[in-house]
Amino acid sequence: GTRPPAPGTAAPTLPGWTHTYSGKVRDLYVPEPGSPAATTHGDVVLVVASDRISAYDHVLATPVPGKGAVLTQLSLWWFDQLADLVPNHVVTAEAGAAGVPHAVVGRAMVCRRLDMFPVECVARGYLTGSGLVEYRAGGEVCGVPLPAGLEDGSRLPAPIFTPATKAAVGEHDENVSFDVVAGRLGADDAAVLRDLTLAVYARAEEVARARGIVLADTKLEFGRTRESSGGVAAGAVVLGDEVLTPDSSRFWPADQWQPGRAQPSFDKQFVRDWLTSPASGWDRASDAPPPALPDDVVERTRDRYVEAFQRLTGRDPVL
Ligand code: ATP
Ligand code: MG
Repeated sequence: GTRPPAPGTAAPTLPGWTHTYSGKVRDLYVPEPGSPAATTHGDVVLVVASDRISAYDHVLATPVPGKGAVLTQLSLWWFDQLADLVPNHVVTAEAGAAGVPHAVVGRAMVCRRLDMFPVECVARGYLTGSGLVEYRAGGEVCGVPLPAGLEDGSRLPAPIFTPATKAAVGEHDENVSFDVVAGRLGADDAAVLRDLTLAVYARAEEVARARGIVLADTKLEFGRTRESSGGVAAGAVVLGDEVLTPDSSRFWPADQWQPGRAQPSFDKQFVRDWLTSPASGWDRASDAPPPALPDDVVERTRDRYVEAFQRLTGRDPVL
C-alpha cells in the first residue's frame, strides 16, 4: 500500500511550520521555534486535511478535489455541536500569522498537540462492515453479544462501543474487546473513552437523524493534553483528529434505509464499487496498488462529500 504521493497530494511546504508526519489523509506540522504560532499558542500542531482518498487500506493515486476542505469544515461544525459534551483540540481555524497559513486555509486547523490514545474509539448503532462480519462468525462484536436474527444494516438494540487498535499505514485496524483496551490503557481511561464515545454518538445520531441521515457508526480519536490552555486542564481527555466526517463515519440516507442489504451511503461508495468492479481491472487480493480513478468516479465522490456537508450543516462548504 505504500507509494510516493500522487502529484498535487504531497504535504505542502508552509512558512513557519515544520512537516512532521503524514497519515493516509492528513499532514501534520509543528510550529518552528520562535514562529508566531509557537509564541502565541505554545504546544500545537497544524492538522491539514489533504484531498487524498483511501480505500481498502490503500491511498489512491487520484485525489478528490475539495475533499480536504469538506472534512475540515465538517469536523469544525461538529466540534461546535459537541462542545458541551467534550472538549476538543481546536485552537483556531482562522487564517493569520499565528493561525492557518494562507495556502491551506479552509482545510486546516491549529490544534492543541495531544498524546493520542492508541485506540480507535468506534460506536455503532447499526450493524454492518467489520461488525457484521464478526457477528456472522460468532454472534458478537468486540465481545459484545448481540441478539440473533440481525442483518446487514439492522439497528442495534442500543449503540455499542467497539474499539479497534490503530494499525500502521497499509494495515488493517483490529477490532478488540473493551477488556483489551482496559488492559492496555487501564480500566479507568478505557471507561472514560467508552462513555465519551457513546455520548458523542448519541448526540450526533440525533442531530443527523433530524436532517434525514442515519449515522450508522463512527470512529473517534481522543488524546490527553500536556499543558493547560483555553480552559482545559493539563492531562485532560480531549477529542482530537477529525470527527463525524464521511471518512470516519457511515452516513446513510434515512429514507433509503432498508436492513438486509448494503445501504447507499454518503462516502466512498462509488470508489469502492468501481475498484471492485471488472472495469477497474484491480484484484483486491493482490499486492498491486489500485489504479487511478476515472473522472466521473472522482466527481460523483466529491459530490457525495459535499452533499453530506450540506445536508448536515445546512450550508455550503467553502471550497
Ligand atoms: P495513522 O493515525 O495510523 O497515521 P491515518 O492514516 O488515519 O492513520 P491521518 O488521519 O491521515 O492518519 O493523520 C492524522 C494523524 O494525526 C493521526 O495519526 C492522528 O492520530 C493524529 N492526530 C490527530 N489530532 C492530533 C492532535 N491534536 N495531536 C497529535 N496528533 C493528532
Ligand atoms: Mg486518521
